[in-house]
Amino acid sequence: MTIEGSVLVVNAGSSSLKYQVLDPATDEVIADGLAERIGEATSSIKHWYRGSEVRREVSLPDHRAAIALVVDLFAADGVDVADSGLSAVGHRVVHGGRSFFAPTLITDEVHSEIERISSLAPLHNPANLIGIDAVTALLPDVPAVAVFDTAFFSDLPDEAALYALDSAVADEYAIRRYGFHGTSHEYVSARAAEFLGRDLAEVNQIVLHLGNGASASAVRGGVPVDTTMGMTPLEGLVMGTRTGDIDAGIVFQLARVADMSIQDIDTLFNKRSGLKGLCGENDFRAILERVDAGDEAADRAYRVYLHRLRRYIGAYMIELGRVDAIVFTAGVGENAVPVRADSLAGLENYGIRIDAERNAVRSDEPRVISTDDSAVTVLVVPTNEELAIARAAVAVAGM
Ligand code: ADP
Repeated sequence: MTIEGSVLVVNAGSSSLKYQVLDPATDEVIADGLAERIGEATSSIKHWYRGSEVRREVSLPDHRAAIALVVDLFAADGVDVADSGLSAVGHRVVHGGRSFFAPTLITDEVHSEIERISSLAPLHNPANLIGIDAVTALLPDVPAVAVFDTAFFSDLPDEAALYALDSAVADEYAIRRYGFHGTSHEYVSARAAEFLGRDLAEVNQIVLHLGNGASASAVRGGVPVDTTMGMTPLEGLVMGTRTGDIDAGIVFQLARVADMSIQDIDTLFNKRSGLKGLCGENDFRAILERVDAGDEAADRAYRVYLHRLRRYIGAYMIELGRVDAIVFTAGVGENAVPVRADSLAGLENYGIRIDAERNAVRSDEPRVISTDDSAVTVLVVPTNEELAIARAAVAVAGM
């Protein structure tokens, strides 16, 4: 068996490397893997190929070492990656700035431009580029396509995209709201319309991507009109370890009274806040168990999380005017039954009625969880960013 004609999808984070090999003709996942804690004392890798899995604790000093190990693991499966006839590579790139509005073939110029806009996403884009370079060194002749997390939101209307900031400063430093998780919001909103058997152009949706990172979007007829993440993925909903919306005055206050550096505050807001900051934990399963057991800190964190989520659901209902569907996706949205029930509780007057039995069903398939008489259809639609990236890579590479 080979992986000829398949697409390799790569998502390189600062200390992780996720990959998948998919058959674009059938959407079948052929291989799937994750290297974690790259650059730390002990790293780990999980590699799955056609039903058999390998897990190892190893030493991976950098992303090149991780790729070399992935190549070795494929070799043990009988696959020579460098000579396997892959048709394309799709790379997730977090920030496309004002330069990239669609999946783009990575040429030298494109590479330089991604590098240039890295200052907009210093926590993300440099890692994405390391992944691109390591894979390109291995597969120089396979077309590589960058798929940007911001692309879906690149036409947000001014009123949603602009901060009320001195325009001269905003323009000079490209400060505006870009939005992220776009690949997921685009895939899920299209899949929801397809599942409902309706034309995407006729459906107004609120998409709730609730994972460790979390964002909501308002999508009018397939076109996003607002989203909760902004210039960076820090804005908006309460997340696993990120604050979401926060008074910018807190930055000045912490610098003044706590003598914290910009780097300290960046780390505080991105890594030590959100649910983790409020109750010491960011795994939602554990939080829900603690809530059930009467744990006060977990209960408070859960209420803060829900309050913010409900605030945005309300805002997007007003922005859209008519809402046909509210769609839950990602780890929490797909699995956390109470989050779906509690975030939409008491909204019967707005035409939203959850069916408790349907909501309790566990499944990997898209499904409706509202009652038949609910004016707004509420759905769970599993996201699949890898598949979306693979399809985009094939479309661009095949041109
Ligand atoms: P990301 O891609 O942002 O890292 P995911 O979309 O994988 O995140 O979502 C991770 C989150 O989903 C974690 O908080 C995890 O606890 C939560 N999650 C996964 N399964 C369940 C479940 N069965 N019940 C509640 N939460 C869950």
